[in-house]
Amino acid sequence: MESETGTAPEVVHSEQEWRERLSPEEYRVLRQAGTERPFTGEYVDTKTVGVYACRACGAELFRSETKFESHCGWPSFFTPLAGEAVIERTDDSLGMTRTEVLCARCHGHLGHVFAGEGYDTPTDLRYCINSVSLTLVPEEG
Ligand SMILES: [Zn+2]
Repeated sequence: MESETGTAPEVVHSEQEWRERLSPEEYRVLRQAGTERPFTGEYVDTKTVGVYACRACGAELFRSETKFESHCGWPSFFTPLAGEAVIERTDDSLGMTRTEVLCARCHGHLGHVFAGEGYDTPTDLRYCINSVSLTLVPEEG
């Protein structure tokens, strides 16, 4: 895990441009590190096969095969599609130390990753991701 983003985002827009490209809720989550209310996101229970891409820039982030039922109220994945697809950094907001997950391409806020919770998955990691940060691209056929 990286503690700092280290690199500049590949996709860069001014805050004004992001506001125009995203809905108010997408902007609040992706650009202001907000969190959608639990059990309200469109992908919480989705089992459709496909790839979840960043809603802000279209980068492929997670595959449906790594999505699992965490019952936490947000879409949960046990690993990103590729290690370099996301950036992980320490988030000390709200009086807690958590690990924030960002899109590596646009540095949009996706959610947080939690480790060692005892889920029966290959990694025991839970990438707890806001639905509003993602766009599901269903697999053909
Ligand atoms: Zn992105």
